[in-house]
Amino acid sequence: MINELIIKNGHYEGCTSTFEDAEIVLFGAGFDGTSSYRPGSRFAPIALRSETLLSQEDYSPYFDMDIKDKSIHDLGDVEVVYGNTGETLSRIEQVSQYIIDNGKKPFCIGGEHLVTFPVVKPLLIKYPDLHIIQLDAHLDLMNELFGDRYSHGTVMRRIFDLMKGSFRIHQVGIRSGHRDEYVFAKSNTRLYPFHSDEFLKNLDELSDKPVYLTVDLDVFDPSLIPGTGTPEAGGIFFQEFISILKNIKEMNFVGADMVELTPQIDPTNTSTIVASKILRELLLVV
Ligand code: MN
Ligand code: MN
Repeated sequence: MINELIIKNGHYEGCTSTFEDAEIVLFGAGFDGTSSYRPGSRFAPIALRSETLLSQEDYSPYFDMDIKDKSIHDLGDVEVVYGNTGETLSRIEQVSQYIIDNGKKPFCIGGEHLVTFPVVKPLLIKYPDLHIIQLDAHLDLMNELFGDRYSHGTVMRRIFDLMKGSFRIHQVGIRSGHRDEYVFAKSNTRLYPFHSDEFLKNLDELSDKPVYLTVDLDVFDPSLIPGTGTPEAGGIFFQEFISILKNIKEMNFVGADMVELTPQIDPTNTSTIVASKILRELLLVV
């Protein structure tokens, strides 16, 4: 049944496990239907897979690990219905549910940030005490964007609505949002603006919890990753990202995603090359 929702768009180099043997199941969700500024993240899963075949080493010197050391299965891409947000979210949720029901961790490649919502939704049922680490330039806590409740700018607010209790979304690297989002964050989320140093001092409350990691690539400085839907000046660089991963790598991750790469905006292709390295390190740590 799930195969009807999946199309094969190449293969992520090094992900050699069968579905049955896999601990992590990678899948693409190239939906960019609510992108308000620069769409194009629909092309990210295909671009990243090709990049891993062309240039990527499977071995990470940062973690002394190889992609082949992990049991990862590349399921393919969810067949997105462009122009139909509801149907697309439902399909992504079914795929995430299927992976979770089989005792595996979903790892989604976006797509815009809204795709995180249907991946996390079934995880919140399985793990009611789930915590989320969000690396992002933006709060994504709006209640509506252009009259739409389901959007890349509202995604963390919709996830918050499903959570029972506050202060379980840990927002790191944030440097953009409306005043009312900042007001909301103050009493409902853990907000670590601009950099990760304060976050890294407060990891204790995550130590015995199931954790989902969502990486919106616009957390990085636009000089490193210009190919993203809503770039924001003043972001983190690769070294800070690696230091975050080194500090959180022992956590109990139950799923993850990497979203908001728009490959064609960057004619040098550097954004895709850097993002494929970020993806490798994420797969090794999760
Ligand atoms: Mn975001
Ligand atoms: Mn963002």
